[in-house]
Amino acid sequence: KSVVHWFKRDLRLHDNRALSLASAKARTDNVALICIFLISPQDYEAHLTSSIQVDFQFRSLQVLKTDLEELNIPLFIQTVEKRRNVPQTLKDACKKWSAHHIFCNIEYEVDELRREAILTTDCLTDGINLTAVHDTCVVPPGTLLNSQNEPFTVYSPWHRAWNAKIDRDPSLLHQHPRPQPNPPSSHMTYESIFKASVPSPPSNKSLTPDKKMYFASLWPAGEHEAHVRLQSFLADKVSKYRDHRSFPAANVNSLLSVHLAAGTLSVRTAVAAACEADTAGSRRLDEGTRGTTSWISELAWRDFYKHILVAFPFVCMNAAFKPAYVSRIAWSYDSALFEAWKAGRTGYPFVDAAMRQLATTGTMHNRARMVVASFLSKDLLIDWRLGEQHFMLSLADGDFASNNGGWGFSVGCGVDPQPYMRLFNPILQSEKFDAKGEYIRKWVEELRDVEGKEVHDPYGRGNADVVKRMMERGYPRMIVEHKKARERAIRVFGEGLQSA
Ligand code: FAD
Repeated sequence: KSVVHWFKRDLRLHDNRALSLASAKARTDNVALICIFLISPQDYEAHLTSSIQVDFQFRSLQVLKTDLEELNIPLFIQTVEKRRNVPQTLKDACKKWSAHHIFCNIEYEVDELRREAILTTDCLTDGINLTAVHDTCVVPPGTLLNSQNEPFTVYSPWHRAWNAKIDRDPSLLHQHPRPQPNPPSSHMTYESIFKASVPSPPSNKSLTPDKKMYFASLWPAGEHEAHVRLQSFLADKVSKYRDHRSFPAANVNSLLSVHLAAGTLSVRTAVAAACEADTAGSRRLDEGTRGTTSWISELAWRDFYKHILVAFPFVCMNAAFKPAYVSRIAWSYDSALFEAWKAGRTGYPFVDAAMRQLATTGTMHNRARMVVASFLSKDLLIDWRLGEQHFMLSLADGDFASNNGGWGFSVGCGVDPQPYMRLFNPILQSEKFDAKGEYIRKWVEELRDVEGKEVHDPYGRGNADVVKRMMERGYPRMIVEHKKARERAIRVFGEGLQSA
C-alpha cells in the first residue's frame, strides 16, 4: 500500500503543500510515500517551453531525487509520449503500487485544469482519492473579489486586498513541513525506482553539451540553490531594491523567477523570508522597509497574473484580455523585422542589449522586457503574440501567466488601466534607465568602447569616428524611425479601437 505525490512545477521538499499533505497521509495510514514525475514532450512543445527551462527542470529533478532518497522516498520518472495518456499513466502507477491516494498542487492553465478534471473523474471510477491543492500563489486564486463581487482587473486595488487578506490570515504564510522519511524497508521494496537514473531531456528540448555546461553554471538548479540565492539577495540587495530595481545594470534584482517558475522555491517562503529579514521588524506586508515592501509587491504581481488567468481563462487561448484594443489591428508579419528584433539587430542599442541578454542567458531585466515588447508591438507593429511566443521559447523563467500578463500590460491590451497609449521611446528609456550605457556595453559587443550619450544612438549622435566604427563592425542603423513609428502606432491603435 502507498500514497503518491505527483510532482509538477513544485520541485522541492520545503514548503510544498501537497507533498506535506501526502506525507502526513502516508504516516497516518502507515504506508509508504512514493513520488512521481511525468515527462510530457507534447506539453513542452504545446507550451513552447524553452530548452533552457527544461534543462533547469531536469537538473532540479536530480537534486530532488537525491534529497528524497535520503528520506527513503522513491522518485519515479517516466516519459509519456502522448499527453492525453498522462492520467492513465498515473492510475497505472497507482495500481502497481497499490496506492489509494494521489496528492498534487494545482496548475491553473487551461490544459492542465482539463487534464486534472479528467483525472478526477477517472480516479473516482477507480476508487483512488485525488487531492489537488492551491500552492503556487500566496493567496489562492478566486478568493479576492472587488466590491461588486467580481474579480479585480486592476493591480492597485487588488494589491490592497491581497495585503489585507494576508494580514487577516497570517497562516497563508505558514510554511508546510518537509516530508517524513519512509521506513528503511522502502528501500528494498522500491529498489528499481531508486536505482533508475534521471533521464535526459527529450530530444526536442535538448541543449548541446556546451550549452548544458554554460547554463548549469549560470543557473545552478534545485531548491538548495534557490535558498542560497534568496538569502544572499535579502542580505545584500533588497535594501537597494526599491530605488534601483528598474535599472538593468544595477544588479539588485533577485533572479529568483527561474526558481519560482520551476517550483524549486515557494513564493510563501520568499515572502515570509523577506518579512523575517526586514529590519523594520514589522510583520505587516505594507509596513516593512522600502526595499522589502517593494520586493514583496513585485512577488504579488506574480500572484495577480495567476488570479487573472483563473478568473479569465480565455487569456490562455491566444486572446487578448481587452480584445477591443487590438482585434482590428492589421498586424505586420514582416519576417525580416521580426528576425532583427529577435537577434538584437534593430539599431536601438537598449532594445538590442535586451534581446541579446535574452538570447545569451534565457532571462531579461523587467524594464527591458517592457521596452522590447512595446518596440515590437508599437514601433514595428508586429503581432504581439509572436513576441509572447518568442519569450516563452527563450526564457529560463517562462511562466504563462506572468508572460502573458507582461505582454498585455506592455502592449496595452491586458489588465491595466492605461490603454494603448503606453508607448515607450526606446532612446529615452535607454537614457533614463541605462544612463551610463553599462547595460548596453555589456551586451552589445559593437558598442563596447562607445562612451557618453552616443551609446544610446551611435549613428545619430556619434561623431564621424563612432559612425565609422559602427559601420566597420556591422552594427545596424535603426530599422524604423521612432517618431514616425509612434505616430503610425497611435493612429492604427486609435482607429482599431474606434472600429471595434
Ligand atoms: P525581482 O525583481 O527580484 O522580483 C521578484 C519576483 O517577483 C520575480 O522573480 C517574479 O516572480 C515576480 N515579479 C517581478 N516582477 C513581476 C512582473 N512584472 N510580473 C509578474 N511577476 C513579477 N516573469 C516570469 O516569471 N516569467 C515570465 O515568463 C515573464 N515574462 C514577462 C514578459 C514581459 C513582457 C514582462 C514585461 C514581464 C515578464 N515577467 C515574467 C515579469 C518580470 O519581468 C520577471 O519576473 C522578472 O524580470 C524576473 O527577475 P527577478 O527574479 O530578478 O525579479
